[in-house]
Amino acid sequence: MKAIAFTEQGEIDVLQYQEVEQPTLEPDEILIKVKACSVNYLDIHARRDRPEIKRKLEETGTPHILGSDIAGEIAEISGNHPHLKIGDRILLAPCIPCGVCSDCLGGYENLCDTQELLGFQTNGGYAEYVKAPAKNAIPVADTFSFTEASALPIAYLTAWHMLITRAQLNAGDDILILGSGGSVGSAGLQIAKLVGARIFATASTDEKLERARQHGADITINYKDVDFSEVILEETNGRGVDVVLEHVGAATWEKSIGSLAKNGRLVSCGVTTGNIGEINIRKMYQKQLTLMGSALGTPAELRTLVRLAEQQKLIPIIDSTLPLKQAADAHQLLESRRNFGKVCLIPEG
Ligand SMILES: [Zn+2]
Repeated sequence: MKAIAFTEQGEIDVLQYQEVEQPTLEPDEILIKVKACSVNYLDIHARRDRPEIKRKLEETGTPHILGSDIAGEIAEISGNHPHLKIGDRILLAPCIPCGVCSDCLGGYENLCDTQELLGFQTNGGYAEYVKAPAKNAIPVADTFSFTEASALPIAYLTAWHMLITRAQLNAGDDILILGSGGSVGSAGLQIAKLVGARIFATASTDEKLERARQHGADITINYKDVDFSEVILEETNGRGVDVVLEHVGAATWEKSIGSLAKNGRLVSCGVTTGNIGEINIRKMYQKQLTLMGSALGTPAELRTLVRLAEQQKLIPIIDSTLPLKQAADAHQLLESRRNFGKVCLIPEG
């Protein structure tokens, strides 16, 4: 089969469209004919230098295939899975949790220590075919396109877990969404709109701010021109926002905390600009702030998102679709941060 794969980590040119062996199934696995696979920033880290990928390349001696967000049709089934049949349209849950540890049994599969991620510890969906455990298959309705389905897993699941499960965003809350054009930011925008929050969104260009407004942002801030925390305080008469969706890290940390209202919740899922941030502890307890981490999400949450998408209440924002062959262009698009929403790869045939 054809796939985008690499044998050594590095810059974009390591991604080669090539012939690789089609996966063979172990018990209780399915083979999926990939119809769409969306690209995440994590893929770029994996391609460049993530140690898990380096280890896999060394241990297996075979090319690695990226891609965690996969939608397609079932082409083969191993084992007895009466709820699945050949040709079913499905989305793959991106994580493979162990299912037996106390985190998994408690419904916190996203915290499972031994979980694997499709396209990370396993080969992923930048290919004509991919295999996965049968239990990862989530059926999707005919009305929901493969491209839209492939946009859901990582970005929307991350944003949903952050805003709904962790920060418990409510109708009427004010929320600040940083980097609203990115995958998690744009997903957060739609989820916050669905909930009925008032949305403050930052982005780096006027074009992205316009897109953010189209997707529900009430007040947009170009963070290159102005200090976003000052604008927040001005627009809220000094009160601040109830929730901050933070995924930038060191560069925005203090301003994000400074934008919070009393009883405010900051929820973080990423640190693209650095891991270490300071905090004024006195202000934190006086304002009763809550700082919380958030790591991807659970299979049950993903099913909720699929239902919302099928009901057309949450239609994923697609920036562009590219043929699988052009995976390098997709990485370039994400690296240059020119996209607003998800970039999806479509295998030929
Ligand atoms: Zn587990």
